[in-house]
Amino acid sequence: MLADVIPRIAAELQGPSADYSERPSSAGPERCIRSLVYHAAGTPRQPFPGRAMLIFDDSSWHEELTKDWIRKSAFTLHSEQMPVTLPGVITWKKGQTRWCRECKKNLPAEDLHGHPDGILTDLLRVDRLLEHKAINHFGFERIWKGDWPLDNLTQLAIYMRAVQLLAPELVEGLLLLKNKNTAQYMELLCQYHHEGDRLVVTEVVRSGEERRTVRHVMERAVEAAIAKFAAVEDYRARAVLPVRPFPYGTDFPCGYCGWAAACWGSFEEEFQAMAEGAKLADDVVALCNGIIAKRGQAKDMTAEAKELRERVAAMLKAQEQDIVDACGYYFQADSDAKELGGELDALRSGVRALLWQEGVRQGRAGDYSVTLSMRKRAGYFVEPTQWEQVDVRKVKPEDPKAKKSRKKKEPTDGEADPGPGLAGAGDPGS
Ligand code: SF4
Repeated sequence: MLADVIPRIAAELQGPSADYSERPSSAGPERCIRSLVYHAAGTPRQPFPGRAMLIFDDSSWHEELTKDWIRKSAFTLHSEQMPVTLPGVITWKKGQTRWCRECKKNLPAEDLHGHPDGILTDLLRVDRLLEHKAINHFGFERIWKGDWPLDNLTQLAIYMRAVQLLAPELVEGLLLLKNKNTAQYMELLCQYHHEGDRLVVTEVVRSGEERRTVRHVMERAVEAAIAKFAAVEDYRARAVLPVRPFPYGTDFPCGYCGWAAACWGSFEEEFQAMAEGAKLADDVVALCNGIIAKRGQAKDMTAEAKELRERVAAMLKAQEQDIVDACGYYFQADSDAKELGGELDALRSGVRALLWQEGVRQGRAGDYSVTLSMRKRAGYFVEPTQWEQVDVRKVKPEDPKAKKSRKKKEPTDGEADPGPGLAGAGDPGS
């Protein structure tokens, strides 16, 4: 009855999409640059699915609920949604204006302008800038493990830089995250240093008295955000789209992206048009070296973690301290293996981006054969079809003697050349 009706209403009631402007909320390094270019170029955005609208709506209400709880505490929350500005940093928009929905007026488009959630004052009269985000359980757990929300931190850095123009003593900010599934909170205490344009996460606290001292540094946080906006403008002015930062079949963010149809509509044809058998550039070779090295390390780590797990099982009847030690080693080896997996993924993404840049889907990079292929995979929001995969194989370098003798033979017997180095099987593909 209502299960279908509510998302439909949410889909129908969404307003028209706002015109593109450089905003703190879209300034971070994780936001898809291709979607920003579509928006900046005025490509029509598809309406969001009803469920996505409900998710956005939930997040706004969670913010209100949190503020209500803060008001019941000894902290004072003030300056909510106050306008803050970094004047004149969007240099290419000099002389233009843009509409601010919150201020309800036109503002100079050359200013980077936004509205932080508020300022929190504690009992010692110390002020901290507050930014609230309501996120799902998986995102929440990822952040607790150190996968920092770089877009949210960039937004906080921009707000803090702007606030420090008026109140230089406000050096601390709080990114407050609410787990929408469990109502647990996590706060990331940050410092922003105007001088070096540096944001540092210094402490993470999670409901339930869990506290961790950390040091995650984002150098030139605001400068990098402005440089990204400048890159968007450059792509827009040249009418060029940047390479898709995510592989085909990506659920998030592509499943929620208003330009998904425009972005992926011609993908199959583009993929088929890519070259094969090309010689790839040296930067692909460097990334392939990294993949092969990390893959070996990851294999060793996984084997080590497996061995330690077996030792733990064998020790179940042994001394307690031995079990504690073995568990400690196991978790260390396991987390090292996961970290390496992340590094491998980053290297594969680098190879993928370079292949798309060059328009090549199979080629030779030094001693490696590199292939971009499509694999079957079930999807959720994006149609369950295929998934892009990068394979890197080490191939035997060509034997110079064999090459010489083949050269001699070729004119006489006309045998087919099997191709340099591709006959040997190396490490399995990624
Ligand atoms: S569909 Fe994905 S890759 Fe394409 S613009 Fe949107 S987020 Fe970026």
